[in-house]
Amino acid sequence: MAKEGLTAFEAVNRYFEEAARLIDLDEHMYSVLTSTYREISVQIPVRRDDGDLVVVRGYRVQHNGARGPYKGGVRYHPTADLEEVRALASLMTWKTALLGLPFGGAKGGIEVDPTEMSAAELQRMTRRFTNGIGHVIGPYRDIPAPDMNTNAQTMAWMMDAYSATHGYSPAIVTGKPLDLGGAPGREAATGRGVVYVLQAHCEARGLDLTRLRLAVQGFGNVGSWAAVEAAARGATVVAVSDRFGGVRHDGGLDVELLARTVWNGGRLEDTDQPGVDRITNEELLVGPCDVLVPAALGEVIDADNAGDVQASVVVEAANYPVTPHADKILGDRNVTVVPDVLANAGGVTGSYFEWTQNIQQFTWKESQFNEELHDRLHTAYEATAAAAAELGCTLRQAAFAIGIRKVAHAARLRGYV
Ligand code: NAD
Repeated sequence: MAKEGLTAFEAVNRYFEEAARLIDLDEHMYSVLTSTYREISVQIPVRRDDGDLVVVRGYRVQHNGARGPYKGGVRYHPTADLEEVRALASLMTWKTALLGLPFGGAKGGIEVDPTEMSAAELQRMTRRFTNGIGHVIGPYRDIPAPDMNTNAQTMAWMMDAYSATHGYSPAIVTGKPLDLGGAPGREAATGRGVVYVLQAHCEARGLDLTRLRLAVQGFGNVGSWAAVEAAARGATVVAVSDRFGGVRHDGGLDVELLARTVWNGGRLEDTDQPGVDRITNEELLVGPCDVLVPAALGEVIDADNAGDVQASVVVEAANYPVTPHADKILGDRNVTVVPDVLANAGGVTGSYFEWTQNIQQFTWKESQFNEELHDRLHTAYEATAAAAAELGCTLRQAAFAIGIRKVAHAARLRGYV
């Protein structure tokens, strides 16, 4: 998909360029870091339950591995084409570097609408995809994880397919079910991490979280946990949505109830709370709130609606939810954007904890997981805010600048340039 004349990868590279200029990155390094290392495109024939056959396409893109094995989720979505997967892989490179995790950046995707597929069809597709990319992944090579429309069950199938040829390999994927080497805390880690980062932002800017009204777009893994964790810390969640639409209550939604409904397989629209209005996704984005948390698709805040956003802070729980054009409009209107590479980094940080536990065959308590997550995200926020002050730039430019410096240094030491 391309929006405002830029593909997703070109747009992420636009953000890269803004930061690279601030740190005088040299031309050769620039060429290495704005292109991907390896791209695999595989054909995936999927037998439908009714005997029909559909052929879909899957991708694994490894953007940069200077700092460690490639790491990144796998997304099942009709828009997950090669350009989108490249963009998401590149974001993982800067995210893992910003957080100081010993990983590079990668992403996977299958260009498919999985929402109407049965569990058996999803399993067959996942196994085919895993076999197709099996030669470029590995516990010390490239470690997939869940993303949109994939979950712990998807990871269990991937682990099983990989283990069939390599022996029992829990460290091949993260975000697994607890009984297969998953880590207590990982499922909530991305959404909880969004709230840890928001808390750090509130502390830095003298904001009181308990006085803030949040609107959250997307009520899947990330959005539902972000809403639940924010409400648990006293924030008022006034609006949430999923792909079917949203709900709004100015006095505050009962997000626990909404989350339980969705986690049990229901839809937001199945719940019935007094005083709740139905809204569209577009209305959610521009409705009254203090903090807007896009937690679904990319490119949802664009040149058309950025001028109408009422929030004073946008926390990018989703990857690449704000186009470069919109980013400029928000900046000019003094709307602070807490960028994806920082805001949703709780996911890959939690995945790092799971991976280390798998490798050491030693398990942590959830309390230890959450404490480490909190510390690392607070440290990353503070480093980003300090770099923004030093460079006189936005939080996004600062976060990218930190990541780029670290990756460039590792790439130079390894002799890439
Ligand atoms: P998910 O599949 O669990 O949930 C996605 C949610 O978005 C669902 O509620 C779905 O109904 C909603 N949605 C889908 N299409 C929509 C549309 N057109 N408009 C509004 N809502 C729509 O996915 P997730 O894992 O929660 O991922 C959400 C975002 O967070 C993605 O951008 C992903 O890349 C990012 N992210 C996820 C993780 C993770 O650990 N899962 C980590 C970092 C970043």
